[in-house]
Amino acid sequence: MKKMNVNQQRLWDSLMDMGKIGATEKGGVCRLALTDLDKQGRDLFVRWCREAGCSIRIDRMGNIFARRPGQDDSLPPVVMGSHLDTQPTGGKFDGIYGVLAGLEVIRSLNDHGIETRAPVEASVWTNEEGSRFPPAMVASGVFAGVFDLEYGLSRADLDGKTMGEELERIGYAGPDEVGGRPFKAFFEAHIEQGPILEDEGKQIGVVTDAQGQRWYEITLTGQESHAGPTPMARRRDALVGAARIVDRVNRIGLDNQPNACATVGLMQVFPNSRNVIPGQVFFTVDFRHPDAGVLAKMDQALREVSAAVAEELGLEMKFEQIWHSPPVPFDRDCVDSVRNAAESFGYSHRDIVSGAGHDACYIARVAPTSMVFVPCENGISHNEAENADPADLAAGCNVLLQAVLERAND
Ligand SMILES: [Zn+2]
Repeated sequence: MKKMNVNQQRLWDSLMDMGKIGATEKGGVCRLALTDLDKQGRDLFVRWCREAGCSIRIDRMGNIFARRPGQDDSLPPVVMGSHLDTQPTGGKFDGIYGVLAGLEVIRSLNDHGIETRAPVEASVWTNEEGSRFPPAMVASGVFAGVFDLEYGLSRADLDGKTMGEELERIGYAGPDEVGGRPFKAFFEAHIEQGPILEDEGKQIGVVTDAQGQRWYEITLTGQESHAGPTPMARRRDALVGAARIVDRVNRIGLDNQPNACATVGLMQVFPNSRNVIPGQVFFTVDFRHPDAGVLAKMDQALREVSAAVAEELGLEMKFEQIWHSPPVPFDRDCVDSVRNAAESFGYSHRDIVSGAGHDACYIARVAPTSMVFVPCENGISHNEAENADPADLAAGCNVLLQAVLERAND
């Protein structure tokens, strides 16, 4: 039997049409959450969904749910989706693909006159990027009970405008309660945002887990003094301490392969003057691993190494873990649905761990969830050069369709 396929050209055209809203000169997109451009993108999505026969519901965080009824409409829906907001120099695919792949699944079900047992919904999650209103994934977080509603609505941008005010202004402060209703399953299709699938020539990533993260802030304090008259033996150089710790952070990452990531991405040196021995250094550490046990081991190693370096060099240290997001194992049945779907189409595939956060990571706390990854060119994302192959995008969407059918009809 020939399998049902989505319409590759229609999916691509929809991505390109959406990409015109907030298009940048370099071929990317700037469509920050809850701006006029975000409103235009949402309006277009809602119009397309209505044209596909869906009813629209919007909750108080501005999350949008476009519903195609099931044979038994009292069953919890199978939900697909991602986000329409972008980074300031973002691309046409990050998030948008997951939203429009959901719409394409609904359009394809319509084309083939397929009725599903449970209803199927395509969703848009507000402010996933957290670029205008930190933190990231705040609206899916409220939906999943990670944050309360007041916290979500009161997040403010640099001008002091809150999400609540901006949702009202653009007409997306919906009446629905945020969360509190069951999903039969949730699937998020997304570009990989890394190089693994492309390097290995695989078309589909079956996302089994999302990495846990621990973020740290470390301040080392020594003594500022003149770079000339101060003998080497008498120095308490905070930057030398930081440099040793940076190297050890990198080694902790290398010691915990294949999945560990360890990064020092921000450093401030005081007084940052060429002829003054640095008296103080502030820097951050970002650890990621899908296994909570390994992440705890990395944490332990960092604490030991930092304390030893500080002591060796006579530095004072302030050490703080400022954020901890535990690893997310996706639902084994949903992961199997994605893998089975990829196999049934004969697509090359591999299991993969998500290195980035996604709305699916929070939704996984309240619903059986998994993700479908497709390759992106050179693994580049959060960049105007972000690109993906229309055939890969369609393959991911076919997998999404098949997985959704399996869950909606079981
Ligand atoms: Zn995204």
